[in-house]
Amino acid sequence: MTDNDQSFAEASRVIPGGVNSPVRAYRSVGGAPRFMVSGRGPYITDVEGHEYVDLVCSWGPLLLGHAHPAVVDAVHAAVSRGLSFGASTPAETELAEAVIARLSPVAADGQPVIEQLRLVSTGTEATMTAIRLARGVTGRSLIVKFAGHYHGHSDGLLADAGSGLATLALPASAGVPAEIAAQTLVLPYNDRAAVTQAFETYGPRIAAVIVEAAAANMGVVAPQPGFNAFLASVAHAAGALLIVDEVLTGFRVSPAGWLGLEPIDADIVTFGKVIGGGMPLAALGARRSVMEYLAPLGPVYQAGTLSGNPVAVAAGLATLQAADADVYARVDAVARTIADAASDALSATGVAHAVSRAGSLFSIQFQNELAVDYAGVQRQEAFRYGPFFHAMLDAGVSLPPSAYEAWFVSAAHDDAAVARVLDALPAAARAAAA
Ligand code: PLP
Repeated sequence: MTDNDQSFAEASRVIPGGVNSPVRAYRSVGGAPRFMVSGRGPYITDVEGHEYVDLVCSWGPLLLGHAHPAVVDAVHAAVSRGLSFGASTPAETELAEAVIARLSPVAADGQPVIEQLRLVSTGTEATMTAIRLARGVTGRSLIVKFAGHYHGHSDGLLADAGSGLATLALPASAGVPAEIAAQTLVLPYNDRAAVTQAFETYGPRIAAVIVEAAAANMGVVAPQPGFNAFLASVAHAAGALLIVDEVLTGFRVSPAGWLGLEPIDADIVTFGKVIGGGMPLAALGARRSVMEYLAPLGPVYQAGTLSGNPVAVAAGLATLQAADADVYARVDAVARTIADAASDALSATGVAHAVSRAGSLFSIQFQNELAVDYAGVQRQEAFRYGPFFHAMLDAGVSLPPSAYEAWFVSAAHDDAAVARVLDALPAAARAAAA
């Protein structure tokens, strides 16, 4: 038994499935997950000392790579001052100001989208609070979401939620009361007619539409041109809010996230992942008139023992401060190089595929025709991903263990790391073809 197998067996005795988040379990690609002990730059190392080029990057947060010196120094400095105070700190204000500055102004109407920010600990909390806030503001209950979009694991948002559910081929979670699921209308992504129809039928009862700024939890599926703007106009015409979920895209695809690539009249924006630089930190933001509905100013309750935790805030601030134009240029270039090389390798072996891109995010669909919604994505030959994944892993490249996830790169992916990925691709493409 290898040390990885041993670690998995031991974990499986005391942790359900041996993992603390389902997609880590390698269920759709087979085999035992690697247990990791350290990461540096573009590399991650397992319990057996095998080093991998990391194309998971903690599922997005590590825009600067593992253990970036400025982030590590900021965390060390924060830790030495104390781990948690349960009281406000000046650094929380500094982080809120940094986020507002990056996002200002990126609404289609030229006004700032965000005037205030509330810090929470996970993306799940950010979207859950955004939903409650939208309901509090509008006095309505129904939520529109899109099939294959993942907004975390709160009850009402788990219907047809892509990501781990797609990986495990589950339509939704057990344990969600039907009464709660009934408050969520799930529509096909990029389908304007479905949105129009939902608003014609339920318009006065709809509190909000929630949408991933660009879908990346069923693999990457970009919004069709104008789709996000269409959502804003339909929602606003009916007196509903538009929640743009930037947990995954925020501060990753541009300094201002997806909103920096495409101005959208969003009413509430959620952030996670990069904003915490690898620590548990997330946020929601909106204009003052909306944010003032939150307690202690308004009637919508939200709280957190560790919200705005000083160590997490230090990591997030250091990450945003280091994420300059060079970082985004490097991430874009690395993503393009790897995506193009993967496509070339698959073409050389005759494997039907299409590269799906949204900004610097990308994934491979194992079908010729690029799907634009969840039903289309699920038609791909996903069985090809397992052999592809394992050939890459054997060659020292760690990909997301699911065909339904984006590949993540960082600015620390230097030419040597990229070369290792490119070298591994031909054999992986042959494995996918078999
Ligand atoms: N929203 C989006 C778009 C996400 O990709 C995720 C996580 O992958 C979440 C929300 C939930 O974030 P967390 O896992 O921090 O709860």
